[in-house]
Amino acid sequence: MKKRILASIVCVSMISWAQNLTTLAEKSGWLKTGRAEETEALCKGFAKKYPKRVRCKSYGETPEGRTLWYMNIRDASVKSSAPTVWIQAGIHAGEIDGKDAVFSLMKNVFEKKITPDPFTGLKVIFVPIVNLDGHERFGKWNRPNQIGPDEMGWRVTAQNYNMNRDFAKVDTSEMRDLNKLWNEHDPILSLDLHVTDGAHFQPEVGIITTPTENQGTGALHAAGTKYETELMQKLHYRGRQALPFYPSFLDDDKPTSGFARSVSPPRFANGYWYVRNRIGVLVESHSWKDYATRIKVHYDTVLSSLEIAQKYGADWTKQAREIDRQPLAGKKIDVAFKHTKKFKTIDFGGYKFSIAKSKISGGDVIRYFTDQPETWKVPFYEELAPTVSVTAPEKGYFIPASEMETIKAKLDMHGIKYEKWTQPLPDIVNVFRATKTQLSAGSFEGHQTMTLEGEWAQEKSEFPKTVFFVPIRQPNALIAVHLLEPLAPDSFVFWGLFNRFFEIKEYMEDYVAEDVAKKMLEDKTIEAEFNEKLKDDSFAKDPNKRFRFFYQKHSSWDTHYNRYPIMKL
Ligand SMILES: [Zn+2]
Repeated sequence: MKKRILASIVCVSMISWAQNLTTLAEKSGWLKTGRAEETEALCKGFAKKYPKRVRCKSYGETPEGRTLWYMNIRDASVKSSAPTVWIQAGIHAGEIDGKDAVFSLMKNVFEKKITPDPFTGLKVIFVPIVNLDGHERFGKWNRPNQIGPDEMGWRVTAQNYNMNRDFAKVDTSEMRDLNKLWNEHDPILSLDLHVTDGAHFQPEVGIITTPTENQGTGALHAAGTKYETELMQKLHYRGRQALPFYPSFLDDDKPTSGFARSVSPPRFANGYWYVRNRIGVLVESHSWKDYATRIKVHYDTVLSSLEIAQKYGADWTKQAREIDRQPLAGKKIDVAFKHTKKFKTIDFGGYKFSIAKSKISGGDVIRYFTDQPETWKVPFYEELAPTVSVTAPEKGYFIPASEMETIKAKLDMHGIKYEKWTQPLPDIVNVFRATKTQLSAGSFEGHQTMTLEGEWAQEKSEFPKTVFFVPIRQPNALIAVHLLEPLAPDSFVFWGLFNRFFEIKEYMEDYVAEDVAKKMLEDKTIEAEFNEKLKDDSFAKDPNKRFRFFYQKHSSWDTHYNRYPIMKL
């Protein structure tokens, strides 16, 4: 009797564990998604049921006080040198397919419904919900351009940050905690699972790999291209309609404008991972496919990616670490890209559409007839060319101690090494002076961004009392260049961290300037230059410009105005 009771308890317990490892998504016929408690229960449940395969750990706490969980998936026999694959879902919490897809994949693999085991020989880190506070802002219509689940989380965090713009600037504590985990595990291949917005068409997923040989050459670019090529083949074999680019039209609502490849700057996950010398992948299931289809798309993409990592991950890890050791000193580095005008015409699975005048907006509105598939012949711009290039320093960057408070924590989070400079300081350094500055008209991610024109030039050095040095010879040199070069698209300058240095701080009263100018005009060279400038109408008609001409030449002029405080050697 006792034995029977024990057996039935074990049996009930097994059933309950098996049930616990089934997501609400699966139980609801792929119509719903579970809440944060379910993710925590599944994380712990998998670890309890498969202790030799899964560990469930916390990696931080959200601003609203929720515990962030990740799963460390590896079998006991895996070597410590095995390649690591990173999978993250729900950075935009309304786009939550990846969470349910990976739980489903894990369950099927551990129940041996999939052979060979795609996790074997790999170390896999799975973060089921990156934006956890956003995930719990749960409701219908949080994603108005998306089919299902019935209710879902919200795009941004409790602090209203879009985490997929935060990889370079790191404003959020969630990103700081994620970065710590990423630094600790050093994945070679990282997948960021999303859902698109946009038009109606037949393809089910766009997958953007960074880098590929479309953007440059090198072992990592070759690895990215190999990954992309094999992934497309595997997804085709699995019956998926996949694209190796983001399927947004070049001109909104104009299907005939076609598509282009692009390179994300490091504010985005895949762009960031690339500047850390690793392969980053953005997976975007198509929002107008139902939740069941989208989960299958993510399931197949993750499964295929693991299979590819099993094949090449060890070699790619070795190559990436070799790239970490290659010196960037003095090299030209392309930091922003755009597609060229070269295109090929592709067949694209679209739908019949019409464009008509809207009675609501008065503008054009596109209508898709999704019951009438048709093939669009559209341009595809595949070739990429650099639009901004910078030169890495020969030795490194000097940061005044007074600026370390602003950026120290960020350098630490990115794993960028620096030291207090104790050697004799050089007499000549490179200084960046802006010739044109442009602040953004509005706020972007809580920042007033700054774009500059200008260049580095050698100047007699003017060092503060204490200075720190970021050597260029270090594994994270490429991200250091992206953050510290003022012209790079996600530099600290762009994000407005140094706006103070591009503001006028002292001024000369006009009546003082009047007298100063009269005195200065006694110098024939200045007089000639002034007369030459007066030929320009916009100068001649602007009293401020005319006064500024003299003020800038006067000894009271602030020589630090428009001077970037970080120097390079
Ligand atoms: Zn997204």
